[in-house]
Amino acid sequence: MSIRKCQKFTVYPLSNFPLGELAEVICIFSFDLSLRLKSIGVQEGTLVEIIHQDPSGDRVVVRFNESRVALDKAFLKHILVRPLKTSYEMLRDFARVDQLTGLLTRQFAENLLKKELANPPYCLVLADIDDFKRFNDTFGHQAGDKVLKDIAQVIKRNLRKTDLAVRWGGEEFVLFLKNTTVEIGQLIAERIRRAVADHIVWWQGQTLGVTLSLGVCGAPPVRPLELLFEMTDKALYQAKKSGKNLVFLCEE
Ligand code: GH3
Ligand code: MG
Ligand code: MG
Repeated sequence: MSIRKCQKFTVYPLSNFPLGELAEVICIFSFDLSLRLKSIGVQEGTLVEIIHQDPSGDRVVVRFNESRVALDKAFLKHILVRPLKTSYEMLRDFARVDQLTGLLTRQFAENLLKKELANPPYCLVLADIDDFKRFNDTFGHQAGDKVLKDIAQVIKRNLRKTDLAVRWGGEEFVLFLKNTTVEIGQLIAERIRRAVADHIVWWQGQTLGVTLSLGVCGAPPVRPLELLFEMTDKALYQAKKSGKNLVFLCEE
């Protein structure tokens, strides 16, 4: 986000502000726009929220207090706002959510996982993108980032809201499936494997095919987190060694 320091707080152009998040209008730089918005009662202190963005990204619907206004997105850069979320909340979100993929961060998830360990049945899944390095090497780092974003979305779409999806490392994901037996966990891992293999990543007019290898380990029996990870990692290693784009269960 481009940021300007304004008096004692930080303000942002509304164009850089996330959809669905409430902010306060600080000033409007365009004379025409400010006249138009004044006519519907918009002034300093009015609450504002982008409530809709059309698929092309050129037009948005903005709510100012109780009024809704359709605007060209280009106008939003003339409106400076202050987030209503506190800095603390923003920092907390940064610590919890991986900014590239939107999945949970490892730091945040580690504590959650420890708490969940005592509540079987559940499954831990380790998923690692196959030959990911070649995307970076062939198409550049940004193509690699696009692959990561896409695959994270595919994974999320194939999980329940209660499951945890974590970006554990560069191109490695940890999934924690609550209230799930190992048989069901294997089916879910297989569903994710297939969904990723069927997914097409578009990159600058080209299509990239991606596959995922997965290791799955279930509880009961309940094991310490380190052992559970070690066993799941071995299953993932078996999947890689056996040719990739595969799901392997851990050995009891
Ligand atoms: P394998 O099938 O054995 O998993 O091979 P791989 O190429 O997927 O694995 P390897 O560990 O050799 O390479 C992973 C690469 O991921 C290396 C690293 O530069 C890249 N990487 C890590 N984080 C990011 C990121 O955030 N963005 C991008 N574009 N690349 C990343
Ligand atoms: Mg990999
Ligand atoms: Mg890896």
